[in-house]
Amino acid sequence: MSISASKIESPIGDRPVSDMLEQVRFGQSLTDAEALTLLTVEEESMADLCQVAAGLRDQGKGRVVTFSPKVFIPLTRLCRDYCGYCTFRQEPASAETLYLSPEEVLAVASAGQQLGCTEALFTLGERPEQKYSEAKDWLERRGYATTLEYLADMCKLVLNETLLLPHANPGTMSRREMAALQPYNPSMGLMLESTSEKLYATGGPHEFAPSKRPRVRLRTTEIAGELGIPFTSGILIGIGDSRRDRVESLLAIRRLHQTYGHIQEMIIQNFRAKPDTPMSNSADATSAEMLWTVAVARILLGPNINIQVPPNLSAQDYQIYLDAGINDWGGVSPLTIDYVNPEAPWPGLSDLRDRTLAMGFELRPRLPVYPEYFVNTDQYLPTALRAKAIALADGDGYVKGGMQRYVSSN
Ligand code: SF4
Repeated sequence: MSISASKIESPIGDRPVSDMLEQVRFGQSLTDAEALTLLTVEEESMADLCQVAAGLRDQGKGRVVTFSPKVFIPLTRLCRDYCGYCTFRQEPASAETLYLSPEEVLAVASAGQQLGCTEALFTLGERPEQKYSEAKDWLERRGYATTLEYLADMCKLVLNETLLLPHANPGTMSRREMAALQPYNPSMGLMLESTSEKLYATGGPHEFAPSKRPRVRLRTTEIAGELGIPFTSGILIGIGDSRRDRVESLLAIRRLHQTYGHIQEMIIQNFRAKPDTPMSNSADATSAEMLWTVAVARILLGPNINIQVPPNLSAQDYQIYLDAGINDWGGVSPLTIDYVNPEAPWPGLSDLRDRTLAMGFELRPRLPVYPEYFVNTDQYLPTALRAKAIALADGDGYVKGGMQRYVSSN
């Protein structure tokens, strides 16, 4: 299929929002053109929008909400790109380390295993060897031509030496690079962020980040589909994107998922301004726009997709997104910080359980690959990887031992 980050040419329809929501209530999804009507939802229709979205979630996911107990492994913080909101990237001269060594990777993963973690999230900068000779030399001295080659070996190490399952999130990837990572990763991820063109225009947050061009990111997402890799995507809210940009981003992901069925989850992440970045004076995404986006994501992507909001980025009231149709809190670590948002500590797991319960849901730990991609199907995971996932899971495909592994019941 051709990659499309296409603009929807149709004007916003003249049918009222209530008609569209009724259509969804009766089980009929919205066309791309009909989706545009949701742009006009105003405050007085928000409760209806959220109710329809939450109903779809209940239909597809019941009253179970999940999280992935993880360790965060920042394999390298060097990056060839510059994004206007990022505090993760470091320059070689001031970086704590150019790359984590195999021993350091294994030490974090093993410490996480002691705490019951089942996901090793590898998040790293984009192809730093293309910009920095220090990175290229470091890799060459160890026999690697690229960061992604080193990543594949580190994923293999964690997979073979610990009880954790890797989830690689290294930026854009070619088919060859993804195929090399596939035997060691039951899922991989790449945030789409946004299909908006103005974000990479002059002055936009992605002006100096070629890897953030939507076509490149959609192509990586499409290759994952062609290879049958369960894949995490997501959009970033509040970086200069409009409601229309968000709808177009969600529809681009919907098109890929309709073709390949591989989008295991969609993250709806709110921008938070950080000091010492070009966007330090930009306003944070509001919870009202987050609620609208979460509900629209559920309505456009349907009852069966997993939709996640990171709880540490809305610490005061993250539970409100349950009312807009989410069913997952993403990776939460009892050990490592969120290196991308170091100012935002993870909630304690008992807090997460209690707030989820108070909203009428059961919290269950999951693996980095969702049950629907390995329990009753051998379509996605290589045989050995599927066997390990099954060994770590209970009969429903969630982490064996459940919440009792992490918090005492009270
Ligand atoms: S957000 Fe990612 S791609 Fe952008 S500068 Fe930071 S590490 Fe690099």
